[in-house]
Amino acid sequence: MAVIIDGKLVAARLREEIRSETEKIKSAGRAPGLAVILVGEDPASQVYVSNKEKACAEVGFYSEKYLLPENTEEKELIALIKRLNSDVNIDGILVQSPVPKHINYENIVDAIDPSKDVDAFSPVNVGRIMIGNYSLAPCTPAGVMELIASTGTDVSGKNCVVIGRSNIVGKPMAMLLMHANGTVTVCHSKTKDLKNITRTADILVSSVGKPKFVTAEMVKPGAIVIDVGMNRDENGKLTGDVVFDEVSKIASFITPVPGGVGPMTITMLLKNTLTARKLH
Ligand code: NAP
Repeated sequence: MAVIIDGKLVAARLREEIRSETEKIKSAGRAPGLAVILVGEDPASQVYVSNKEKACAEVGFYSEKYLLPENTEEKELIALIKRLNSDVNIDGILVQSPVPKHINYENIVDAIDPSKDVDAFSPVNVGRIMIGNYSLAPCTPAGVMELIASTGTDVSGKNCVVIGRSNIVGKPMAMLLMHANGTVTVCHSKTKDLKNITRTADILVSSVGKPKFVTAEMVKPGAIVIDVGMNRDENGKLTGDVVFDEVSKIASFITPVPGGVGPMTITMLLKNTLTARKLH
């Protein structure tokens, strides 16, 4: 039976470290500052933004929240970002996605000063991650690396299989595993014989976005299985990609959904904001 990796616990430990470092930084100057911008009234995004605000308060950060109307023009949003780029109290700027369709998200991310891009989505930061010379790591993959580290496993030399190749999860995930000296295979919807590839994985990361996608027959006995998926099942219940009941019988470690990768993502955002504060 697999050991369940408790993402809430790992996240709480990290937040405590961030809180105590913030106290020291504050007494020597100013608190790390995060600005979160939401355009429109998407209810899920409103929850994410208020969770980020609460998380900032919990660790002692300064935060600003901008709630802009749905019909905000791209140039107005970019003007706000430019103002925040030169605000000395702000170390991190985050524009909650998705943005309304009339706004080009790439232009928005591109407008953020790379040293304040705490999501690490801008082309400059993506390039830095690619060459392995980066300070700000993409939050979800960085959180996965922390979860793997919490098992005491050294990624070096391990066969790592990532299912999914998105810009926010799959691709940066593969890069971080590669920088940790894993031997990495990336799978996607055109991959042939997926099961035969996933069965080679010592570390299997699933970021597909489909419930019940990863079954026991796809998993090598003893593997570490990280489930990034966040899906709703037929009853509206939050569920991952992995069939937890059967895979947990053969894996060595496994993340649950909820309570695995999810709690790490905001924590890594806080960590990036603290890092950005130190850079500034
Ligand atoms: P995405 O952009 O939709 O990417 C999904 C990936 O899965 C794509 O690369 C796709 O391949 C691949 N895929 C789809 N069907 C497949 C199949 N049959 N076999 C193999 N690969 C297949 O999604 P995402 O943004 O990366 O997110 C993935 C999941 O993670 C979602 O459930 C999302 O909600 C969750 N997520 C969770 C967190 C968190 O904090 N826990 C953060 C971000 C995302 P192609 O490229 O060929 O289409």
